[in-house]
Amino acid sequence: MLYYSTRDRGNYATASRVILKGLAPDGGLFVPAENIKNLFKENLPTGNYQELAVNIFSQFLGDFSLPEIQFAVSAAYNFNTFENPAITPLSQVSEQTFSLELWHGPTSAFKDIALQVLPHLLTTAALKSGEKKEYVILTATSGDTGKSALEGFRDVPGVKIMVYFPEKGVSDIQKLQMTTQEGKNVHVIAVRGNFDDTQTGVKQIFNNHNINTKLERAGYRLTSANSINWGRLLPQIVYYFYAYGELVTRGHLQEGGAVNFVVPTGNFGNILAAYYARRLGLPINRLICAANQNNVLSDFINSGQYNKNRPFYNSLSPSMDILVSSNLERLLFELSDHDSEQIQYWMELLLKNGLYCLDKKTLSKLQELFWSDYADDEETLETIAKTYRAHNYLLDPHSAVAKKVLEKYLAQENDNHLSIVLSTASPYKFTGSTIKALYDSSLFKGLSELELMKTLSQKTGIPVPKNLAELEDKQILHHQVIEPQKMPEHLQKLLLN
Ligand SMILES: *Cc1c(COP(=O)(O)O)cnc(C)c1O
Repeated sequence: MLYYSTRDRGNYATASRVILKGLAPDGGLFVPAENIKNLFKENLPTGNYQELAVNIFSQFLGDFSLPEIQFAVSAAYNFNTFENPAITPLSQVSEQTFSLELWHGPTSAFKDIALQVLPHLLTTAALKSGEKKEYVILTATSGDTGKSALEGFRDVPGVKIMVYFPEKGVSDIQKLQMTTQEGKNVHVIAVRGNFDDTQTGVKQIFNNHNINTKLERAGYRLTSANSINWGRLLPQIVYYFYAYGELVTRGHLQEGGAVNFVVPTGNFGNILAAYYARRLGLPINRLICAANQNNVLSDFINSGQYNKNRPFYNSLSPSMDILVSSNLERLLFELSDHDSEQIQYWMELLLKNGLYCLDKKTLSKLQELFWSDYADDEETLETIAKTYRAHNYLLDPHSAVAKKVLEKYLAQENDNHLSIVLSTASPYKFTGSTIKALYDSSLFKGLSELELMKTLSQKTGIPVPKNLAELEDKQILHHQVIEPQKMPEHLQKLLLN
């Protein structure tokens, strides 16, 4: 399988190049250049999670050998990394609704699924390139991704990872998760500023020619592990096949029958993986794209106009607080039958005016498969409470947004298909909101997040994931706080002295 860029179909790249590069040189995103339509249609892949992953990866990682793929999969998805042997267990919430739990990994967030395997794909790709470089992963994080990347890359040979987070811009638990991070190759640095300052600092390092040259000379190469890397998207295709197989195995669905997936969406990676699963032949009826109050995507899917010129809200589902969903570019490329000039045009308009409009044909293709709406904070809290009381099932705010949007869909459309809600975080990752949804919050005044976790667990009987419960006893290993302007200098000192 070869790849090319959404903005230029002239340059082909192998899977290993694509994973090493992340972004295409022309600013576009890498996508499969070959026709993948219905590759699996007559013969849906079967087996446990690991077997599915090996099977699906093998279709896409053309220049990886089978043993290389098998190694990456078993290193990523095993008893040490995931608390649940199913990896992404499927829970039944009500007769017609299921929840695919993507948060049983080492940091209790769905980013783990991709970030547990990406480091192994990356180091294998680096070996193939023949360049003897030590890769330095630079990540600015507003919460979940940083910790997930740290756990994925810790002690992976040939890699160092530096994570920068805004000192006051992450939750207490997220901060504790990062500052207690173990591993010989990890650096965790708090930045005095907000997320934008932090991200700008990282971008300045990437764009600084002088620093990059010095680092190259010293044997280092900077790279990011961000969500536009194909190596993060591919692992997410697997759990759609897994969930479908579970429904068939358990007798809820006849093989060949279609289901809906409901995805709480931010950067459009998760739901794009569902789109690719469907292209490969997985029987999917509708893809329901759930947004929070930052509803740029639901407006887009309903009107065809993408308009990022709007107020930004800090919602209770922070991982979905996004106004530009980068991975959408890949979907538009697929819907426009790989028309890279069209994509360039839309992306230029987005950059220049913050706005573009789909033509009628592309819009109707989009709407044939996708359906979208949003849920605000109040609806999110109500849904957590309602779902817990009615079904004894506890949702985190992101998953609750998806559940609420599914309810809106079912109220409007006459649809009898089973629906699977993608559950993207443990409720204990957002204990403050979860507990507030269920109980009178005046009872918990003054309690720390760690105490709130224990209280919620006592009240619901649902255990706290091990990695979160253990935080209390962990030692703080990273104390450094720096000014955003000092980030380039600090990095050089660290690596070059
Ligand atoms: C990243 C994230 C999302 C959004 O996923 P995208 O792939 O960016 O659309 C939703 N929920 C949680 C908890 C996340 O961490």
